[in-house]
Amino acid sequence: MSKTEPDKAEEAKPSKGRRPGPDKPAPDKSTAAKATKATKPEPTDAVEPDVYTADPVEVTREGAKDWSEPVGPLLRPGDGFDLATFDAGATPGWDGSEKDAERRMAALGEELSELQERLYAEGRSGGSRSVLLVLQGLDTSGKGGIARHVLGMVDPQGVALRSFGVPTLQEREHHFLWRIRNALPPTGRIGLFDRSHYEDVLVAVVDELAPPEELDARYGEINDFEAELAGSGTTIVKVALVISPQEQYDRLHERLERPDKHWKFSVGDLATRAKWPQYTQAYQRVFDRTSTEGAPWHVVPADNKWFSRLVVTELLTQALRDLNLGWPVADFDVDAARAALEETKDQGTTAS
Ligand code: ATP
Repeated sequence: MSKTEPDKAEEAKPSKGRRPGPDKPAPDKSTAAKATKATKPEPTDAVEPDVYTADPVEVTREGAKDWSEPVGPLLRPGDGFDLATFDAGATPGWDGSEKDAERRMAALGEELSELQERLYAEGRSGGSRSVLLVLQGLDTSGKGGIARHVLGMVDPQGVALRSFGVPTLQEREHHFLWRIRNALPPTGRIGLFDRSHYEDVLVAVVDELAPPEELDARYGEINDFEAELAGSGTTIVKVALVISPQEQYDRLHERLERPDKHWKFSVGDLATRAKWPQYTQAYQRVFDRTSTEGAPWHVVPADNKWFSRLVVTELLTQALRDLNLGWPVADFDVDAARAALEETKDQGTTAS
């Protein structure tokens, strides 16, 4: 998985000088008349540049089936949520077939792709917003497939993927959020965390990698951290992919039976599998203590890969829609640039 280098991320940040301001030429009247300022559901410190229009992306959904209920709220763990009795093979909110899901994915992909471009354009024009998809799940739950099949539908230049394994010696010398802060998506990007800071309250709790009081404090630290991110313009979409023990057995079995999948198998996965009840408890506590209003968890049944991929596409698209993204107003005189271009029209085509 590709890593975003911090210094590259820094370079990608827009220069303040590019932001449209009162001293900048007025935009073309005809389009300015149509201009609408994007609005946000909650006030944040995030910068939103002027935009021509925040009209929804037009996509053809002909033949694409819709959800029977909005899937986001359906998958949020409310009071009384019990992971131990969760049905990982269910498809809540979706009464269509796998083929229907594929058709909807394709339609959503078009929309997601344009929204991502609008986000990127905003980031290049002085905006400060980004979207971070946090993906958690046990081995074989399909995290890699989400990266390939969902994020794979948008321009890779607009995506920042990071995966988190066992902390390095250097990372261990720092607070557990240090490496996470260093990996946040640059402005205008969609970030994907394949595993995340939640490992520090999952594997760390199950394997008792820190004193109990330190582990206990982490839930609150995570909530504060995520609130801080939301306040500075990062929309966080948290997804836990949940598979059943039987489905994990089948997927691990396939990895052993197929030589082209041996590279994906790790004996360590069996040690983790042996602690299934402890992980179930640790995940339950994560949902109970870190599903906040600003950054709720979505617990996604993942025995059917086509379903979990559809859900994540839907959640990501909805998160981008909620940003009311438009196309940035040019920070230069469009008429003057057009006239200057006209003057160069015959350049290189006639002998001088
Ligand atoms: P995956 O199973 O996600 O495809 P992988 O098998 O290629 O990944 P890595 O990505 O190198 O392995 O590392 C994943 C492992 O790192 C998991 O076992 C996970 O629990 C562990 N890990 C991640 N973060 C931490 C952490 N903060 N502390 C301890 N272990 C961690």
